[in-house]
Amino acid sequence: MQCYKVDPEKPIKLKKLDANDLGNWEGKKKDARKTFAGLQKELAELQEVLYAEQKQKVLIILQAMDTGGKDGTTRSLLEKVNPQGVKLANFKVPTPIELAHDYLWRVHPKVPAKGEIVFFNRSHYEDVLVVRVHELVSKEVWKKRYEQINAFEKMLAEEGTTILKFYLHIDLEEQKQRFIERLTDPKKQWKFNPGDLEERKLWDSYQAAYQDVLNKTSTPWAPWYAIPANRNWYRNLCVGSVIVDTLKSLKMKYPEPISDPETYLQALENEGKEKQE
Ligand code: ADP
Repeated sequence: MQCYKVDPEKPIKLKKLDANDLGNWEGKKKDARKTFAGLQKELAELQEVLYAEQKQKVLIILQAMDTGGKDGTTRSLLEKVNPQGVKLANFKVPTPIELAHDYLWRVHPKVPAKGEIVFFNRSHYEDVLVVRVHELVSKEVWKKRYEQINAFEKMLAEEGTTILKFYLHIDLEEQKQRFIERLTDPKKQWKFNPGDLEERKLWDSYQAAYQDVLNKTSTPWAPWYAIPANRNWYRNLCVGSVIVDTLKSLKMKYPEPISDPETYLQALENEGKEKQE
Protein backbone atom coordinates (compact mmCIF):
# COMPACT_ATOMS: atom_id res chain seq x y z
CA MET A 1 0.00 0.00 0.00
CA GLN A 2 3.07 2.20 -0.20
CA CYS A 3 1.54 3.68 -3.36
CA TYR A 4 -0.79 5.87 -1.36
CA LYS A 5 2.05 7.41 0.61
CA VAL A 6 2.32 11.10 -0.23
CA ASP A 7 5.73 11.93 -1.64
CA PRO A 8 6.44 15.63 -1.04
CA GLU A 9 8.73 15.56 -4.08
CA LYS A 10 5.70 14.69 -6.22
CA PRO A 11 2.85 16.88 -4.94
CA ILE A 12 -0.54 15.25 -5.32
CA LYS A 13 -3.70 16.73 -6.80
CA LEU A 14 -6.74 15.58 -4.86
CA LYS A 15 -8.97 16.00 -7.92
CA LYS A 16 -6.92 13.25 -9.54
CA LEU A 17 -7.14 10.84 -6.60
CA ASP A 18 -10.04 8.51 -7.35
CA ALA A 19 -11.98 7.93 -4.13
CA ASN A 20 -13.37 4.74 -5.73
CA ASP A 21 -9.96 3.27 -6.45
CA LEU A 22 -9.67 -0.35 -5.32
CA GLY A 23 -6.06 -0.97 -6.37
CA ASN A 24 -5.52 -4.67 -7.09
CA TRP A 25 -8.63 -5.59 -5.10
CA GLU A 26 -11.25 -4.85 -7.75
CA GLY A 27 -13.89 -7.61 -7.51
CA LYS A 28 -12.16 -9.18 -4.49
CA LYS A 29 -14.22 -7.83 -1.63
CA LYS A 30 -14.55 -11.24 0.04
CA ASP A 31 -10.80 -11.88 -0.08
CA ALA A 32 -10.17 -8.37 1.18
CA ARG A 33 -12.39 -8.97 4.21
CA LYS A 34 -10.51 -12.19 4.98
CA THR A 35 -7.17 -10.44 4.63
CA PHE A 36 -8.41 -7.65 6.88
CA ALA A 37 -9.51 -10.13 9.54
CA GLY A 38 -5.93 -11.44 9.49
CA LEU A 39 -4.62 -7.89 9.88
CA GLN A 40 -6.93 -7.30 12.86
CA LYS A 41 -5.42 -10.36 14.53
CA GLU A 42 -1.87 -9.33 13.71
CA LEU A 43 -2.52 -5.84 15.03
CA ALA A 44 -3.83 -7.27 18.30
CA GLU A 45 -0.71 -9.42 18.67
CA LEU A 46 1.66 -6.56 17.80
CA GLN A 47 -0.08 -4.27 20.26
CA GLU A 48 0.33 -6.88 22.97
CA VAL A 49 4.12 -6.97 22.42
CA LEU A 50 4.28 -3.19 22.19
CA TYR A 51 2.51 -2.92 25.53
CA ALA A 52 4.69 -5.56 27.17
CA GLU A 53 7.93 -4.13 25.80
CA GLN A 54 7.16 -0.54 26.95
CA LYS A 55 9.60 1.00 24.48
CA GLN A 56 7.71 2.20 21.41
CA LYS A 57 5.26 5.08 21.12
CA VAL A 58 2.92 5.05 18.13
CA LEU A 59 0.79 7.95 16.99
CA ILE A 60 -1.86 7.43 14.31
CA ILE A 61 -3.60 10.51 12.99
CA LEU A 62 -6.91 10.25 11.12
CA GLN A 63 -8.32 13.16 9.16
CA ALA A 64 -11.24 13.25 6.73
CA MET A 65 -14.13 15.32 5.45
CA ASP A 66 -17.40 14.82 7.39
CA THR A 67 -18.66 11.22 6.99
CA GLY A 68 -15.20 10.23 5.72
CA GLY A 69 -15.05 7.23 8.05
CA LYS A 70 -12.63 8.13 10.85
CA ASP A 71 -14.81 6.45 13.48
CA GLY A 72 -15.50 3.37 11.38
CA THR A 73 -11.81 2.90 10.63
CA THR A 74 -10.82 3.09 14.29
CA ARG A 75 -13.65 0.76 15.32
CA SER A 76 -12.75 -1.88 12.74
CA LEU A 77 -9.02 -1.71 13.40
CA LEU A 78 -9.39 -2.04 17.14
CA GLU A 79 -12.05 -4.76 17.14
CA LYS A 80 -9.67 -7.44 18.38
CA VAL A 81 -7.22 -5.24 20.25
CA ASN A 82 -6.97 -5.28 24.03
CA PRO A 83 -8.11 -1.76 25.06
CA GLN A 84 -5.22 -1.68 27.52
CA GLY A 85 -2.46 0.37 25.98
CA VAL A 86 -4.55 1.92 23.22
CA LYS A 87 -5.95 5.42 23.58
CA LEU A 88 -8.21 7.58 21.48
CA ALA A 89 -8.05 11.36 21.45
CA ASN A 90 -10.76 13.50 19.82
CA PHE A 91 -10.13 17.10 18.94
CA LYS A 92 -13.32 19.14 18.87
CA VAL A 93 -13.97 22.89 18.70
CA PRO A 94 -11.38 24.33 21.11
CA THR A 95 -12.57 25.47 24.53
CA PRO A 96 -11.91 29.08 25.61
CA ILE A 97 -8.92 27.96 27.65
CA GLU A 98 -7.51 26.00 24.71
CA LEU A 99 -8.04 29.00 22.46
CA ALA A 100 -6.17 31.16 24.92
CA HIS A 101 -3.06 29.02 24.29
CA ASP A 102 -1.10 28.15 21.18
CA TYR A 103 -2.79 25.49 19.01
CA LEU A 104 -0.36 22.70 19.96
CA TRP A 105 -0.93 23.18 23.66
CA ARG A 106 -3.91 20.82 23.80
CA VAL A 107 -2.25 18.30 21.52
CA HIS A 108 1.04 17.60 23.25
CA PRO A 109 -0.42 16.01 26.42
CA LYS A 110 -2.31 13.49 24.26
CA VAL A 111 0.68 12.04 22.37
CA PRO A 112 1.60 8.43 23.19
CA ALA A 113 3.83 7.41 26.07
CA LYS A 114 6.08 4.35 25.87
CA GLY A 115 4.04 1.22 25.27
CA GLU A 116 1.04 3.12 23.89
CA ILE A 117 -0.70 3.44 20.55
CA VAL A 118 -2.76 6.62 20.35
CA PHE A 119 -5.32 7.32 17.64
CA PHE A 120 -6.04 10.99 16.97
CA ASN A 121 -9.58 11.51 15.63
CA ARG A 122 -8.90 14.97 14.11
CA SER A 123 -5.76 16.66 15.32
CA HIS A 124 -3.59 19.77 15.13
CA TYR A 125 -4.28 19.65 11.37
CA GLU A 126 -7.68 21.23 12.07
CA ASP A 127 -5.64 24.36 12.72
CA VAL A 128 -4.71 24.51 9.03
CA LEU A 129 -8.05 23.09 7.79
CA VAL A 130 -11.24 24.39 9.42
CA VAL A 131 -9.28 27.34 10.80
CA ARG A 132 -8.04 28.26 7.31
CA VAL A 133 -11.35 27.66 5.54
CA HIS A 134 -13.29 29.78 8.06
CA GLU A 135 -10.52 32.35 8.41
CA LEU A 136 -10.48 31.90 12.18
CA VAL A 137 -6.96 33.31 12.16
CA SER A 138 -5.23 35.39 9.48
CA LYS A 139 -3.41 33.78 6.57
CA GLU A 140 -0.20 35.18 7.95
CA VAL A 141 -0.72 33.09 11.08
CA TRP A 142 -1.90 29.78 9.57
CA LYS A 143 0.60 29.66 6.73
CA LYS A 144 3.45 29.46 9.27
CA ARG A 145 1.84 26.44 10.90
CA TYR A 146 2.93 23.85 8.32
CA GLU A 147 6.54 24.36 9.29
CA GLN A 148 5.69 24.50 12.98
CA ILE A 149 3.80 21.22 12.70
CA ASN A 150 6.67 19.56 10.83
CA ALA A 151 9.06 20.70 13.56
CA PHE A 152 6.73 19.48 16.33
CA GLU A 153 6.33 16.08 14.70
CA LYS A 154 10.08 15.87 14.06
CA MET A 155 10.72 16.41 17.74
CA LEU A 156 8.24 13.67 18.63
CA ALA A 157 9.88 11.31 16.10
CA GLU A 158 13.38 12.09 17.35
CA GLU A 159 12.16 11.31 20.85
CA GLY A 160 11.05 7.88 19.67
CA THR A 161 7.47 8.28 18.41
CA THR A 162 6.44 6.49 15.22
CA ILE A 163 3.91 8.67 13.41
CA LEU A 164 1.47 7.61 10.68
CA LYS A 165 -1.09 9.98 9.19
CA PHE A 166 -4.12 8.98 7.13
CA TYR A 167 -6.36 11.22 5.08
CA LEU A 168 -9.49 9.23 4.19
CA HIS A 169 -10.55 10.49 0.79
CA ILE A 170 -14.23 10.33 -0.14
CA ASP A 171 -15.84 12.33 -2.94
CA LEU A 172 -18.73 14.77 -2.94
CA GLU A 173 -21.26 12.23 -4.24
CA GLU A 174 -20.29 9.65 -1.61
CA GLN A 175 -20.68 12.26 1.13
CA LYS A 176 -24.18 13.03 -0.15
CA GLN A 177 -25.13 9.34 0.00
CA ARG A 178 -23.74 9.05 3.52
CA PHE A 179 -25.69 12.09 4.70
CA ILE A 180 -28.87 10.65 3.14
CA GLU A 181 -28.19 7.36 4.94
CA ARG A 182 -27.76 9.21 8.24
CA LEU A 183 -30.97 11.18 7.74
CA THR A 184 -33.08 8.17 6.79
CA ASP A 185 -31.85 5.81 9.51
CA PRO A 186 -33.21 6.76 12.96
CA LYS A 187 -30.22 5.03 14.54
CA LYS A 188 -27.84 7.25 12.61
CA GLN A 189 -29.67 10.58 12.76
CA TRP A 190 -27.81 11.58 15.91
CA LYS A 191 -24.67 11.78 13.81
CA PHE A 192 -26.19 14.46 11.59
CA ASN A 193 -25.68 18.07 12.42
CA PRO A 194 -27.46 20.78 10.34
CA GLY A 195 -24.14 22.64 10.20
CA ASP A 196 -22.74 19.72 8.18
CA LEU A 197 -24.54 20.93 5.06
CA GLU A 198 -23.04 24.40 5.43
CA GLU A 199 -19.60 22.79 5.63
CA ARG A 200 -20.42 20.72 2.56
CA LYS A 201 -20.86 23.94 0.57
CA LEU A 202 -17.22 24.70 1.37
CA TRP A 203 -16.04 21.39 -0.13
CA ASP A 204 -13.63 22.96 -2.64
CA SER A 205 -11.99 25.18 -0.02
CA TYR A 206 -11.55 22.16 2.27
CA GLN A 207 -10.07 20.11 -0.56
CA ALA A 208 -7.59 22.90 -1.31
CA ALA A 209 -6.67 23.05 2.37
CA TYR A 210 -6.26 19.24 2.54
CA GLN A 211 -4.12 19.24 -0.59
CA ASP A 212 -1.75 21.74 1.00
CA VAL A 213 -1.65 19.74 4.23
CA LEU A 214 -0.71 16.57 2.34
CA ASN A 215 1.93 18.21 0.19
CA LYS A 216 3.48 20.41 2.86
CA THR A 217 3.47 18.08 5.85
CA SER A 218 4.20 14.60 4.51
CA THR A 219 7.70 14.09 5.82
CA PRO A 220 10.05 11.12 6.21
CA TRP A 221 9.41 11.19 9.96
CA ALA A 222 5.61 11.60 9.72
CA PRO A 223 4.27 10.53 6.31
CA TRP A 224 0.73 11.06 5.05
CA TYR A 225 -1.22 8.35 3.28
CA ALA A 226 -4.08 9.59 1.09
CA ILE A 227 -6.43 6.60 1.13
CA PRO A 228 -9.31 6.14 -1.35
CA ALA A 229 -12.18 5.73 1.10
CA ASN A 230 -15.48 5.48 -0.78
CA ARG A 231 -15.51 1.73 -0.03
CA ASN A 232 -15.13 1.05 3.68
CA TRP A 233 -13.64 -2.43 3.22
CA TYR A 234 -10.86 -1.16 0.97
CA ARG A 235 -10.16 1.81 3.23
CA ASN A 236 -9.84 -0.51 6.24
CA LEU A 237 -7.56 -2.85 4.34
CA CYS A 238 -5.24 -0.02 3.27
CA VAL A 239 -5.00 1.64 6.67
CA GLY A 240 -4.68 -1.72 8.45
CA SER A 241 -1.88 -2.95 6.25
CA VAL A 242 0.17 0.26 6.57
CA ILE A 243 -0.15 0.11 10.36
CA VAL A 244 0.66 -3.60 10.61
CA ASP A 245 3.66 -3.31 8.26
CA THR A 246 4.99 -0.35 10.23
CA LEU A 247 4.56 -2.08 13.59
CA LYS A 248 6.31 -5.18 12.25
CA SER A 249 9.25 -3.04 11.14
CA LEU A 250 9.76 -1.92 14.75
CA LYS A 251 11.05 -5.42 15.56
CA MET A 252 9.47 -5.42 19.01
CA LYS A 253 10.16 -8.21 21.47
CA TYR A 254 8.61 -9.44 24.67
CA PRO A 255 10.85 -8.56 27.62
CA GLU A 256 13.54 -11.14 28.49
CA PRO A 257 12.00 -14.08 30.34
CA ILE A 258 12.85 -14.25 34.02
CA SER A 259 15.98 -16.33 34.57
CA ASP A 260 14.75 -18.66 37.28
CA PRO A 261 11.03 -19.45 36.88
CA GLU A 262 11.73 -22.82 38.59
CA THR A 263 12.36 -21.10 41.91
CA TYR A 264 8.90 -19.53 41.79
CA LEU A 265 7.25 -22.66 40.47
CA GLN A 266 8.83 -24.55 43.32
CA ALA A 267 7.54 -21.97 45.80
CA LEU A 268 4.03 -22.36 44.43
CA GLU A 269 4.23 -26.14 44.64
CA ASN A 270 5.50 -25.95 48.20
CA GLU A 271 2.53 -23.75 49.14
CA GLY A 272 0.21 -26.75 48.72
CA LYS A 273 2.50 -29.03 50.66
CA GLU A 274 2.83 -26.59 53.55
CA LYS A 275 -0.96 -26.55 53.88
CA GLN A 276 -1.13 -30.37 53.92
CA GLU A 277 1.49 -30.60 56.67
P1 ADP B 1 -16.46 14.44 14.39
O1 ADP B 1 -17.01 15.14 13.18
O2 ADP B 1 -14.96 14.36 14.37
O3 ADP B 1 -17.10 13.12 14.64
P2 ADP B 1 -17.75 16.52 15.85
O4 ADP B 1 -18.98 16.33 15.04
O5 ADP B 1 -17.89 16.82 17.30
O6 ADP B 1 -16.77 15.31 15.68
O7 ADP B 1 -16.93 17.70 15.15
C1 ADP B 1 -15.83 18.27 15.74
C2 ADP B 1 -15.76 19.67 15.18
O8 ADP B 1 -14.69 20.35 15.82
C3 ADP B 1 -15.49 19.70 13.69
O9 ADP B 1 -16.44 20.52 13.06
C4 ADP B 1 -14.11 20.33 13.60
O10 ADP B 1 -13.92 21.09 12.44
C5 ADP B 1 -14.08 21.16 14.86
N1 ADP B 1 -12.72 21.50 15.27
C6 ADP B 1 -11.74 20.66 15.64
N2 ADP B 1 -10.60 21.31 15.89
C7 ADP B 1 -10.86 22.61 15.68
C8 ADP B 1 -10.09 23.80 15.77
N3 ADP B 1 -8.80 23.76 16.14
N4 ADP B 1 -10.69 24.97 15.51
C9 ADP B 1 -12.00 25.01 15.15
N5 ADP B 1 -12.78 23.93 15.03
C10 ADP B 1 -12.23 22.74 15.30
